[in-house]
Amino acid sequence: MPETNYDVIVVGAGPGGTTVASLLAKTGKKVLLLDKNPAPGGRMMTVRKDGFSYELFPINCVPQHDSLFEKLSAKLGKQNDVKLILGNDFGIGRLYYENKKGEIRGSVMNYKPTNLINMLNMMNVKLWHFKSLAQIIRVAKKMITMTQEEIDGLYQISAMEFFDSLGPVPAGFRTFMLATFGEGAFEMPSDRVAAGEMVKMFQVTAKGSGGRYYEEGIGHFFEVMAGVVAENGGTLLMNTRVTSIDVKNGRVNGVTTEDGKHFTAPVVISNAGIRQTVLKLVGEDHFSTDYTQKIKNLESNLACIGYRYFTSRPALDTPMMVLFPEGCVAKYSEFEAMARGDAKPESGYVYLGTTSLYPNMAPKGKQVIYAVVSCVPDTDVDPEPYLRYIEKNVKKLAPQLYEPGCIEHTEIMTTGIVPVVGNDAILPGQGGESYGIANTLGQAGKDRPRGDTPIENLYIVGNDSAGFGLGTHQAVDSGFKIFDIVMKHTADAASSQKDALV
Ligand SMILES: Cc1cc2nc3c(=O)[nH]c(=O)nc-3n(C[C@H](O)[C@H](O)[C@H](O)COP(=O)(O)OP(=O)(O)OC[C@H]3O[C@@H](n4cnc5c(N)ncnc54)[C@H](O)[C@@H]3O)c2cc1C
Repeated sequence: MPETNYDVIVVGAGPGGTTVASLLAKTGKKVLLLDKNPAPGGRMMTVRKDGFSYELFPINCVPQHDSLFEKLSAKLGKQNDVKLILGNDFGIGRLYYENKKGEIRGSVMNYKPTNLINMLNMMNVKLWHFKSLAQIIRVAKKMITMTQEEIDGLYQISAMEFFDSLGPVPAGFRTFMLATFGEGAFEMPSDRVAAGEMVKMFQVTAKGSGGRYYEEGIGHFFEVMAGVVAENGGTLLMNTRVTSIDVKNGRVNGVTTEDGKHFTAPVVISNAGIRQTVLKLVGEDHFSTDYTQKIKNLESNLACIGYRYFTSRPALDTPMMVLFPEGCVAKYSEFEAMARGDAKPESGYVYLGTTSLYPNMAPKGKQVIYAVVSCVPDTDVDPEPYLRYIEKNVKKLAPQLYEPGCIEHTEIMTTGIVPVVGNDAILPGQGGESYGIANTLGQAGKDRPRGDTPIENLYIVGNDSAGFGLGTHQAVDSGFKIFDIVMKHTADAASSQKDALV
C-alpha cells in the first residue's frame, strides 16, 4: 500500500509530468507520481507488442543536439541509462516536393551547407536562378539573424502574414518554410501560429537539427526518468486514474483516485491538461467565471489521422519521409471546411515514418510504419477521406509498401485514440490534438498560460503551459519551468514561515 501523505503530487506521467516529478524527487521532496496508463510517457508511451516496440504516433524529436532531454537525464544522473540515437547516424529523413504538374523531387534532410544544393533542387531552384536564390538567401538570413528582441515583437502577427511580408520567394521555398516551421513544428496552420514561434523554431532547428530518438523508445526515456521518483523515496503509481484534485479553503490539498483513495500534499501539479484540470478534476465552482471562460476559449493544436502499417519486410530505409504538395500550406478555415465535409483533404502534407530502423525496435526484417495527415482535433472526425488521400500519396512515395505480402496488418490511427493515452476530451471539438494548447496568436510566448492557477499551489505542466519547442520538447521545457516555480515558491514560503517565527 502506498503512503498517503506527500510533499508534492503530480497527476500524469507524460513528458511534462515526469520531468517535474523526477526533478523534484531528486531534490529530496517526497513525490507521488500517478497515471492512468500502464507506463510513463503519456501520448509517447512506448508500446511493446509482438516483438515490436513503438509509440502509437509518429515521432520526430527536435532538436537533435543539445536537447533538454539530455539536460534532464544528466541532472538526474541517468545519462548512462538511456542511449541517445542521433538522426545523423540513421539519416534524419527525406523531403519531397510535388509541383502543380505532379512532378516530385526529393532531398535528403539535413541542415549542412553541403546539402543546400539538394534542397534547392527539391524546390526546383537551380544555381543559375539568381533572382530566386537572392530571394531565398535574403529571407533565410533575415530570419536566422533576428535578435530575441525582434522575435519578441512578433507575437501579434501570424507566421504566414509575417513570412509573406518579407517579400516574394519561390513557391517551393514558401511551402517548405511554412509547412515545416509553422504547421509541421507546431501542429497548427501557419495563419494561426505566432510568427515569433516560427522564427524561434527556425533558429533552433538550423542550429540543432532534428531526428533524435532513444534506444528502446521515446516512452522508455520517460520510464527511466520516472524511476527517479521511487529511487528517492517517492511513489510511482501506474494504472491509477485521478478523479478529483481536492481543494480546501482555496488551497489545493491532494487528489482522489478512481478507487476512492485519498492522497494529500500541499502542492499538486497536473499534467492532465489545463481543461481537464480546471473544468473536471478541480471543478468550475472553484474558479471565477472569467477564468473558466478563458480556459474554454483556448485554442487546440491540430490532430493527426492515418495508418500504422505492420510489415513483413523492410519497406522504408529512412526514419521519415514528408511529401509537400505545392499549395499544401492551408489556413485553419480550410481544415474546418474539410472536417465539415465541405472540402476534400487533397493537398495537405503527408508524413511517412518508422522507428523500426533503430536497434531492437522490431522483429528482424519487419517494420511498423506511420502514415499521417493533419486534421482538426475533434475526436469524431470521419477518417475515411483522409485515409484515401494518404493511400494515394503513400503509393507515390513508397509503392513497395503496397506490393503483395508487404503489409501484414494495418491499424487506423484516429483522433479518438489520443485521449486514451493522453488527456480526456472535455469540450466539443477537442481532445484529439497532438500536443495541447496551440502556440497561436494570444497564447504563445509571453501570452502562454504560465503554469500557475488561481488555486494556491496548483500548477499545470506539459504542452498546456509555459514552455517552447516541438511537442515533447515543449513538454519537457514546461517541466523545467514548473520545477523552478515550485522550488521558488516553496523556498519563499519556508523563509516567510521562518520570518514569522523570529
Ligand atoms: C499524432 C501525434 C504526433 C506527434 N508527433 C510528435 C513529434 O513528432 N514530436 C514530438 O516531440 N511530439 C509529438 N507528439 C506530441 C507528444 O506526444 C506530446 O507533445 C507530449 O506527449 C505531451 O506531453 P505532456 O506531458 O504535455 O502530456 P501527455 O503526453 O498527454 O501526458 C499526459 C499524461 O497524463 C495522464 N493523465 C491524464 N489524465 C489523467 C487522470 N485523470 N488521471 C491520471 N493520469 C492522467 C495521461 O495518461 C498521460 O500519461 C505527437 C503527438 C501525437 C498525438
